Amino acid sequence: MRIEFLGTGGFHPNERRHTTCLMVPEIGLILDCGTAGFRIAEHIETKTLDLLLSHAHLDHICGLTYLVTLPIIHNVEKMRLFGAQHVLDAVRDSLFSEAIFPVGPPFEFHTITPGDSIELANGTQIESFPLTTHPGGSIAYRFELDGQQIAYVTDTTVDGTYTDFIRGVDLLIHECYFPDSSSDWAETTGHTHSSTLAELAQSANVGRLVITHVDPLNLDDDPIGLDEFKKIYSNVTIADDGLTIDLSK
Ligand SMILES: [Zn+2]
Ligand SMILES: [Zn+2]
Repeated sequence: MRIEFLGTGGFHPNERRHTTCLMVPEIGLILDCGTAGFRIAEHIETKTLDLLLSHAHLDHICGLTYLVTLPIIHNVEKMRLFGAQHVLDAVRDSLFSEAIFPVGPPFEFHTITPGDSIELANGTQIESFPLTTHPGGSIAYRFELDGQQIAYVTDTTVDGTYTDFIRGVDLLIHECYFPDSSSDWAETTGHTHSSTLAELAQSANVGRLVITHVDPLNLDDDPIGLDEFKKIYSNVTIADDGLTIDLSK
């Protein structure tokens, strides 16, 4: 099975990264749907798509409006949208309001109470965990694919509350919006800065870390200070759009 990093930036798209969207085509799993959501169409392998939202900020949901054509053009029979109640309300009542978008939402809505376990169409179980430091909150997810434990955590500071939730995963996909030089901004906006993430990955005994949701104002190859990062935790990669992780290798 493979994980496709369709969008790996936060806030707004730039010439290098669209905003957040991950996909596991073989089981129809999609995690968040920012502007990279337009790329979902070219990866569809299932009749049902299960979309899990971390939260409803625009860089995680605006691509949902691009999916209205999937049942018409790509023979998708069902799209299930999972998120906290206030997140689904925002999608239904704001993003898909007539003033914003001309067509109603094409989804079945499924409310998650953070902490719930979600069963995907193919039977995969996904655990959820509430993150509270980002404005409006966010949800982290953990699941197993091809015998590997995977966690997806975005839009949060590293506050110690979810360390046990991600402990021992083979692959941690985690945001890192800011380098340590902007740690004050990280605290203000409820985002992660680099050394806190390195220490988390090290202390939670993570097998491999892939960083996503990086600052779109920084197009450098290394927006977070990898040399310093690797002194604390070394098995780290910064994702770009188009990265594929093949879990069978
Ligand atoms: Zn975000
Ligand atoms: Zn956010």
